[in-house]
Amino acid sequence: MARLTMKAAVCDAPGEGDVLAIRDVEIDDPHEMEVRVKILATGICRSDIHYLRGVWAHPKPVILGHEACGIVESVGPGVPKSRIGEKVVLTFTPSCGHCRFCVAGRSVLCEEVARAAAAGTMWDDTTRFFERDGTPVHHLSLVSSFCEYTIVPHNGAIRIEDDVPEAEACLLGCGAMAGIGAALNTAALRPGESVAVFGCGGVGLSVIQGAKLCNALPIIAVDVRPEKEAEARRFGATHFVDASAGDPVAVVRDLTGGGADYTFEATGQTEIAELAYKATCRAGTTVLIGQPTENALAGFPPYWIAQDENRVIGSSYGSTRPMIDFPKALRLARHGLLDLKSLVSEVWTFDRINEAIALVETGRVNRIVLRVGDVA
Ligand SMILES: [Zn+2]
Ligand SMILES: [Zn+2]
Repeated sequence: MARLTMKAAVCDAPGEGDVLAIRDVEIDDPHEMEVRVKILATGICRSDIHYLRGVWAHPKPVILGHEACGIVESVGPGVPKSRIGEKVVLTFTPSCGHCRFCVAGRSVLCEEVARAAAAGTMWDDTTRFFERDGTPVHHLSLVSSFCEYTIVPHNGAIRIEDDVPEAEACLLGCGAMAGIGAALNTAALRPGESVAVFGCGGVGLSVIQGAKLCNALPIIAVDVRPEKEAEARRFGATHFVDASAGDPVAVVRDLTGGGADYTFEATGQTEIAELAYKATCRAGTTVLIGQPTENALAGFPPYWIAQDENRVIGSSYGSTRPMIDFPKALRLARHGLLDLKSLVSEVWTFDRINEAIALVETGRVNRIVLRVGDVA
């Protein structure tokens, strides 16, 4: 084991961060209970772009990227050597194992993860990435995958089977699991319950797939882009509402006889959250998945929420417990019950990362995956 020099796409100080700078960064050996992972594939998520554009604050410089599949290259003290060579999917909810939320099985809410993520460091408040002059380079949410190698807590690298295609597997790290988990875990949909999903990007389409797995019916997809209809139906939607053609709430209420049992907001826009609530039936549940800016507010009527016994609940990363849910999702995919492959719109080489980010920002693609390891 030794410190390595690698290529990384670094997000620099605000104002200079409009594009990522691909340059050499040094990566340390894995410390105690950590593993160093050679990245094979990484997805680009809207959250990465929020950090790049300064919509969300983060210590800089930072290596972004949090949807990744790779191979364990070396292990720190305390981690069995047998883990070297494992194919893994990385997770930003590795579980500290001792905070009250982790004890309750809700590692997406882990207090230690939140603390390390805010600091842009590992658990011990220091980084494993350095500029050539020794300046620390920050981590993103204990993952950082826009680079050739990364270091993560041992339980942030979840083993998967060797033959799972990495471009599909990496999506479990965020987008696909956020959607599937919202349906299976957060909402825990039951057969015959009606569902409306607002937003048919990668997350929304994954909610639709999750709803189909639960035998929800009907499954109504709502999007302002009519060209999303074919895709939404392919993933399991029974109906499609073109929100650009009129009031989607009225159509959803009509199709469900007064509102859907569960509505899902998967766009991150506050006004869509309000629409989703209005399309929910009495005693129904509105599930908020999308993430607008931190201080954004939406308007909901307390009188009617009380009167109708509605629930408006949040779903963070689909309430996913990676060690349980990753193998489950891959088992479903292997048996044709879950389509991860079709979520991948394009697979490009890592050196095209800025071009890929620009394409993701247009909203025209579900997920772009970058193959890492062949950078110039
Ligand atoms: Zn993400
Ligand atoms: Zn914890």
